[in-house]
Amino acid sequence: MAGATAAKELVGRGFSVTIVEARDRIGGRMFTDRTSFAYPVDIGAGWIHLGDGGNPITSLCEHYKVGVKQAEYHNEQVYWKDGRKISQKDNEDADHLYEKIMGKFEDLRKTLKSDISLEAALEQVTKPMQLTSDQKLFQRYKIYSEIQCEWACHLKDMSAINFDEEAGDKYSGEDKLVTGGFDNLIYGLLSGLKIDLKLKQVVTEIDYS
Ligand SMILES: Cc1cc2nc3c(=O)[nH]c(=O)nc-3n(C[C@H](O)[C@H](O)[C@H](O)COP(=O)(O)OP(=O)(O)OC[C@H]3O[C@@H](n4cnc5c(N)ncnc54)[C@H](O)[C@@H]3O)c2cc1C
Repeated sequence: MAGATAAKELVGRGFSVTIVEARDRIGGRMFTDRTSFAYPVDIGAGWIHLGDGGNPITSLCEHYKVGVKQAEYHNEQVYWKDGRKISQKDNEDADHLYEKIMGKFEDLRKTLKSDISLEAALEQVTKPMQLTSDQKLFQRYKIYSEIQCEWACHLKDMSAINFDEEAGDKYSGEDKLVTGGFDNLIYGLLSGLKIDLKLKQVVTEIDYS
């Protein structure tokens, strides 16, 4: 995304541009699977966070006609691995338990003199709670989706003190879900540009001379 945007900007200013990409495809961490299902599935970035309130990706998607939908988190349906639906009540209970765990985690965080991993901190918090095996499974799912997925990092590699620190939110509003495939944004940015694209070329050195 950054490379395609820079290329477009440079071409617009009259430069001749070569994109050197290590992989065999463009898009980087924006990667749309267009073959497994009848519709595009983004397996890299898929959401426009705070897409309602100023996030420029929303207007870029509008400009390049990439389908976007308002995120409807309340429509979530979770399944056991044998295909049974998890009831609304079980899901709500899991949410409450997760909030309780995170509340206890916040209490622990305030007392930490030196950093430990988030994994160790959560273990410290949940151990005395004697969770049932279903509750443990639910919590693994909640923690995976709310924390690990959100920050794209394993709990053992995250700091209990600083894991959720981020630069102040510039944007506001609700999230949006990209339904038309994020790859179309990259293709849109690059379409019509005269660019030399070199795939499977790993940059090992930059000579500024
Ligand atoms: C699973 C996942 C889900 C995500 N979900 C979201 C989301 O919902 N919403 C959101 O806003 N963000 C999300 N992100 C983050 C988002 O994808 C990235 O912030 C964004 O794509 C970064 O774009 P970029 O151009 O800066 O970097 P990248 O997309 O990483 O592009 C860098 C490019 O440089 C190439 N490259 C690297 N080193 C070399 C080299 N030495 N030589 C040549 N080429 C090289 C890489 O192959 C890559 O194509 C997600 C990321 C992941 C992995």
